[in-house]
Amino acid sequence: MSRLAVENVSLVYDTSRGPLTALSDLSFKVGDGEFVSVLGPSGCGKSTLLRLASGLMAPSQGTLRLSGEAIKGPRPDVGIVFQQPTLLPWRRVIDNVLVPIRAMGRSLSEYRPKALALLELVGLKGFENHYPHELSGGMQQRVGIARGLIHDPSMLLMDEPFAALDAMTRETMMDEIQRIWSTTAKSVLFITHSIPEAVYLSDRVLVMSPRPGRVIEEVAIDLPRPRTVATLDDRRFVALSSHLRAQFRPKAGDP
Ligand code: ADP
Repeated sequence: MSRLAVENVSLVYDTSRGPLTALSDLSFKVGDGEFVSVLGPSGCGKSTLLRLASGLMAPSQGTLRLSGEAIKGPRPDVGIVFQQPTLLPWRRVIDNVLVPIRAMGRSLSEYRPKALALLELVGLKGFENHYPHELSGGMQQRVGIARGLIHDPSMLLMDEPFAALDAMTRETMMDEIQRIWSTTAKSVLFITHSIPEAVYLSDRVLVMSPRPGRVIEEVAIDLPRPRTVATLDDRRFVALSSHLRAQFRPKAGDP
Protein backbone atom coordinates (compact mmCIF):
# COMPACT_ATOMS: atom_id res chain seq x y z
CA MET A 1 0.00 0.00 0.00
CA SER A 2 1.28 3.48 -0.76
CA ARG A 3 1.86 5.86 2.14
CA LEU A 4 0.54 8.90 0.26
CA ALA A 5 -1.80 8.70 -2.71
CA VAL A 6 -2.81 11.81 -4.64
CA GLU A 7 -5.74 10.90 -6.87
CA ASN A 8 -6.96 13.24 -9.64
CA VAL A 9 -6.56 16.30 -7.45
CA SER A 10 -7.48 19.77 -8.63
CA LEU A 11 -7.37 22.96 -6.62
CA VAL A 12 -9.00 26.20 -7.67
CA TYR A 13 -8.37 29.37 -5.63
CA ASP A 14 -11.02 32.09 -5.50
CA THR A 15 -9.17 35.30 -6.20
CA SER A 16 -10.30 38.91 -6.64
CA ARG A 17 -9.71 38.41 -10.38
CA GLY A 18 -11.74 35.22 -10.55
CA PRO A 19 -10.95 31.53 -10.15
CA LEU A 20 -7.31 30.46 -10.46
CA THR A 21 -6.57 26.79 -11.11
CA ALA A 22 -3.37 25.98 -9.19
CA LEU A 23 -3.44 22.20 -9.64
CA SER A 24 -5.25 20.24 -12.31
CA ASP A 25 -5.89 16.49 -12.27
CA LEU A 26 -2.74 15.71 -10.30
CA SER A 27 -2.06 12.05 -9.48
CA PHE A 28 0.94 10.27 -7.96
CA LYS A 29 1.93 8.00 -5.09
CA VAL A 30 4.64 7.88 -2.47
CA GLY A 31 5.51 4.36 -1.29
CA ASP A 32 6.30 3.38 2.27
CA GLY A 33 9.81 4.58 3.12
CA GLU A 34 10.21 6.17 -0.30
CA PHE A 35 11.84 9.57 -0.91
CA VAL A 36 9.98 11.41 -3.67
CA SER A 37 10.78 14.93 -4.85
CA VAL A 38 8.41 17.23 -6.65
CA LEU A 39 10.31 19.50 -8.98
CA GLY A 40 8.67 22.41 -10.72
CA PRO A 41 8.95 26.07 -11.64
CA SER A 42 7.90 28.76 -9.22
CA GLY A 43 4.12 29.16 -9.11
CA CYS A 44 3.31 25.66 -10.43
CA GLY A 45 1.46 24.73 -7.25
CA LYS A 46 4.11 22.93 -5.16
CA SER A 47 3.24 24.68 -1.89
CA THR A 48 -0.45 24.23 -2.66
CA LEU A 49 0.18 20.49 -2.99
CA LEU A 50 1.94 20.47 0.37
CA ARG A 51 -0.93 22.32 2.05
CA LEU A 52 -3.33 19.71 0.65
CA ALA A 53 -1.16 16.78 1.76
CA SER A 54 -0.87 18.26 5.24
CA GLY A 55 -4.66 18.56 5.48
CA LEU A 56 -4.55 22.34 5.92
CA MET A 57 -6.71 22.74 2.80
CA ALA A 58 -9.18 20.49 0.98
CA PRO A 59 -8.94 19.84 -2.78
CA SER A 60 -11.61 21.24 -5.11
CA GLN A 61 -11.71 17.82 -6.76
CA GLY A 62 -10.10 14.45 -6.17
CA THR A 63 -8.78 12.77 -3.04
CA LEU A 64 -5.55 12.60 -1.08
CA ARG A 65 -5.00 9.50 1.05
CA LEU A 66 -2.52 8.76 3.77
CA SER A 67 -2.02 5.08 4.58
CA GLY A 68 -5.21 4.44 2.63
CA GLU A 69 -7.39 6.92 4.56
CA ALA A 70 -8.74 10.10 2.96
CA ILE A 71 -7.03 13.19 4.40
CA LYS A 72 -9.74 15.36 5.97
CA GLY A 73 -7.62 17.68 8.14
CA PRO A 74 -4.23 17.92 9.88
CA ARG A 75 -3.05 14.50 11.09
CA PRO A 76 -0.64 13.31 13.73
CA ASP A 77 1.02 10.88 11.31
CA VAL A 78 2.32 13.76 9.15
CA GLY A 79 5.34 15.95 9.95
CA ILE A 80 6.06 19.18 8.11
CA VAL A 81 9.32 21.04 7.55
CA PHE A 82 8.75 24.53 6.18
CA GLN A 83 10.86 26.80 3.97
CA GLN A 84 11.59 28.99 6.99
CA PRO A 85 11.92 27.20 10.31
CA THR A 86 9.79 29.92 12.04
CA LEU A 87 11.02 29.06 15.51
CA LEU A 88 9.52 30.76 18.54
CA PRO A 89 12.26 33.25 19.54
CA TRP A 90 11.35 33.22 23.22
CA ARG A 91 11.57 29.44 23.56
CA ARG A 92 14.75 27.41 23.91
CA VAL A 93 15.69 24.95 21.15
CA ILE A 94 14.33 21.94 23.04
CA ASP A 95 10.99 23.67 23.66
CA ASN A 96 10.76 24.60 19.98
CA VAL A 97 11.19 20.93 19.08
CA LEU A 98 8.38 20.10 21.52
CA VAL A 99 5.91 22.64 20.03
CA PRO A 100 3.84 19.98 18.14
CA ILE A 101 3.64 17.88 21.32
CA ARG A 102 2.29 20.87 23.24
CA ALA A 103 -0.21 21.55 20.41
CA MET A 104 -1.37 17.92 20.49
CA GLY A 105 -1.83 18.10 24.27
CA ARG A 106 0.60 15.22 24.82
CA SER A 107 2.96 14.92 27.80
CA LEU A 108 6.00 17.19 27.34
CA SER A 109 8.10 15.29 29.90
CA GLU A 110 7.42 12.02 28.10
CA TYR A 111 8.72 13.42 24.81
CA ARG A 112 11.72 15.26 26.28
CA PRO A 113 14.17 12.34 25.91
CA LYS A 114 12.98 11.89 22.31
CA ALA A 115 13.54 15.62 21.62
CA LEU A 116 17.09 15.32 22.95
CA ALA A 117 17.72 12.22 20.81
CA LEU A 118 16.41 14.02 17.71
CA LEU A 119 18.59 17.05 18.42
CA GLU A 120 21.54 14.68 18.52
CA LEU A 121 20.36 13.08 15.25
CA VAL A 122 20.29 16.47 13.51
CA GLY A 123 23.73 17.39 14.89
CA LEU A 124 22.63 19.80 17.61
CA LYS A 125 23.66 17.91 20.73
CA GLY A 126 24.58 20.47 23.38
CA PHE A 127 22.42 23.24 21.86
CA GLU A 128 19.14 22.25 23.52
CA ASN A 129 19.13 25.24 25.87
CA HIS A 130 20.16 27.83 23.30
CA TYR A 131 17.69 30.35 21.94
CA PRO A 132 17.02 30.48 18.16
CA HIS A 133 18.90 33.79 17.66
CA GLU A 134 22.04 32.07 18.98
CA LEU A 135 21.97 29.60 16.04
CA SER A 136 22.99 29.92 12.38
CA GLY A 137 20.35 29.59 9.63
CA GLY A 138 21.38 25.98 8.95
CA MET A 139 21.16 25.12 12.65
CA GLN A 140 17.71 26.72 12.90
CA GLN A 141 16.55 24.62 9.95
CA ARG A 142 17.86 21.49 11.73
CA VAL A 143 15.69 22.44 14.71
CA GLY A 144 12.77 22.66 12.25
CA ILE A 145 13.56 19.13 11.03
CA ALA A 146 13.71 17.75 14.60
CA ARG A 147 10.37 19.49 15.29
CA GLY A 148 8.86 17.83 12.20
CA LEU A 149 9.93 14.40 13.46
CA ILE A 150 9.13 14.73 17.18
CA HIS A 151 5.75 12.97 17.05
CA ASP A 152 7.17 10.13 14.93
CA PRO A 153 5.07 10.75 11.79
CA SER A 154 5.15 8.10 9.08
CA MET A 155 5.14 10.78 6.38
CA LEU A 156 7.39 13.82 6.28
CA LEU A 157 6.47 16.75 4.03
CA MET A 158 9.31 19.15 3.26
CA ASP A 159 8.65 22.44 1.49
CA GLU A 160 11.93 23.71 0.00
CA PRO A 161 13.60 23.33 3.39
CA PHE A 162 16.93 24.71 2.16
CA ALA A 163 15.52 27.72 0.29
CA ALA A 164 16.80 30.25 2.83
CA LEU A 165 20.28 28.71 3.21
CA ASP A 166 23.54 29.59 1.49
CA ALA A 167 24.95 27.21 -1.16
CA MET A 168 27.54 25.55 1.08
CA THR A 169 25.09 24.96 3.93
CA ARG A 170 22.64 23.51 1.41
CA GLU A 171 25.19 20.86 0.40
CA THR A 172 25.78 19.90 4.03
CA MET A 173 22.03 19.78 4.63
CA MET A 174 21.52 17.41 1.66
CA ASP A 175 23.79 14.90 3.43
CA GLU A 176 22.01 15.52 6.72
CA ILE A 177 18.61 14.84 5.17
CA GLN A 178 19.90 11.68 3.50
CA ARG A 179 21.35 10.46 6.81
CA ILE A 180 18.18 11.31 8.78
CA TRP A 181 15.96 9.67 6.17
CA SER A 182 18.04 6.47 6.10
CA THR A 183 18.06 6.38 9.93
CA THR A 184 14.35 7.03 10.45
CA ALA A 185 12.88 5.19 7.40
CA LYS A 186 10.17 7.82 6.86
CA SER A 187 8.29 8.35 3.63
CA VAL A 188 9.24 11.79 2.34
CA LEU A 189 7.62 14.20 -0.08
CA PHE A 190 10.26 16.82 -0.82
CA ILE A 191 9.29 19.99 -2.66
CA THR A 192 12.11 21.76 -4.45
CA HIS A 193 13.09 23.71 -7.52
CA SER A 194 16.69 22.52 -7.28
CA ILE A 195 17.53 19.76 -9.77
CA PRO A 196 20.75 18.61 -8.01
CA GLU A 197 18.94 18.39 -4.66
CA ALA A 198 16.12 16.37 -6.16
CA VAL A 199 18.49 13.94 -7.92
CA TYR A 200 20.84 13.59 -4.95
CA LEU A 201 18.12 12.80 -2.42
CA SER A 202 15.33 11.00 -4.24
CA ASP A 203 14.20 7.55 -5.21
CA ARG A 204 11.90 9.22 -7.74
CA VAL A 205 11.51 12.75 -9.09
CA LEU A 206 8.14 14.03 -10.28
CA VAL A 207 8.33 16.91 -12.73
CA MET A 208 5.43 19.36 -12.58
CA SER A 209 4.19 21.49 -15.45
CA PRO A 210 3.81 25.26 -15.10
CA ARG A 211 0.47 26.23 -13.54
CA PRO A 212 -1.94 24.51 -13.44
CA GLY A 213 0.42 21.92 -12.00
CA ARG A 214 0.27 18.33 -13.21
CA VAL A 215 2.91 15.62 -13.18
CA ILE A 216 4.39 15.65 -16.68
CA GLU A 217 7.24 13.25 -16.06
CA GLU A 218 8.41 10.78 -13.47
CA VAL A 219 12.10 9.88 -13.28
CA ALA A 220 13.43 6.97 -11.22
CA ILE A 221 16.81 7.85 -9.66
CA ASP A 222 18.78 4.63 -9.84
CA LEU A 223 21.97 5.94 -8.19
CA PRO A 224 23.38 3.71 -5.46
CA ARG A 225 23.09 4.84 -1.83
CA PRO A 226 24.50 6.31 0.25
CA ARG A 227 25.18 9.17 -2.14
CA THR A 228 28.27 11.19 -1.41
CA VAL A 229 30.08 14.22 -2.72
CA ALA A 230 31.56 11.93 -5.41
CA THR A 231 28.00 11.22 -6.62
CA LEU A 232 27.77 14.84 -7.82
CA ASP A 233 30.44 14.07 -10.45
CA ASP A 234 29.08 10.62 -11.33
CA ARG A 235 28.16 10.31 -15.03
CA ARG A 236 24.74 8.95 -14.18
CA PHE A 237 24.07 11.85 -11.80
CA VAL A 238 25.05 14.33 -14.50
CA ALA A 239 22.91 12.53 -17.12
CA LEU A 240 19.84 12.44 -14.85
CA SER A 241 20.30 16.13 -13.97
CA SER A 242 20.64 17.11 -17.66
CA HIS A 243 17.57 15.09 -18.54
CA LEU A 244 15.55 16.90 -15.86
CA ARG A 245 16.97 20.29 -16.83
CA ALA A 246 15.81 19.72 -20.42
CA GLN A 247 12.21 19.47 -19.15
CA PHE A 248 12.35 23.12 -18.13
CA ARG A 249 13.89 24.51 -21.31
CA PRO A 250 11.48 26.31 -23.63
CA LYS A 251 10.60 24.03 -26.53
CA ALA A 252 10.25 25.01 -30.19
CA GLY A 253 6.71 26.22 -30.73
CA ASP A 254 6.24 27.43 -27.11
CA PRO A 255 4.62 30.85 -26.90
P1 ADP B 1 4.77 27.15 -5.87
O1 ADP B 1 4.90 26.65 -4.47
O2 ADP B 1 5.04 26.09 -6.90
O3 ADP B 1 5.59 28.38 -6.14
P2 ADP B 1 2.06 27.89 -5.09
O4 ADP B 1 1.39 26.64 -4.70
O5 ADP B 1 2.56 28.80 -4.01
O6 ADP B 1 3.24 27.56 -6.12
O7 ADP B 1 1.07 28.75 -6.01
C1 ADP B 1 0.45 28.22 -7.18
C2 ADP B 1 -0.44 29.29 -7.79
O8 ADP B 1 -1.52 29.55 -6.93
C3 ADP B 1 0.27 30.64 -8.00
O9 ADP B 1 -0.22 31.20 -9.19
C4 ADP B 1 -0.16 31.45 -6.80
O10 ADP B 1 -0.21 32.82 -7.12
C5 ADP B 1 -1.55 30.91 -6.52
N1 ADP B 1 -1.90 30.94 -5.10
C6 ADP B 1 -1.20 30.35 -4.09
N2 ADP B 1 -1.83 30.55 -2.91
C7 ADP B 1 -2.95 31.28 -3.19
C8 ADP B 1 -4.02 31.80 -2.37
N3 ADP B 1 -4.07 31.59 -1.06
N4 ADP B 1 -4.98 32.50 -3.01
C9 ADP B 1 -4.96 32.70 -4.34
N5 ADP B 1 -3.98 32.22 -5.15
C10 ADP B 1 -2.98 31.53 -4.59
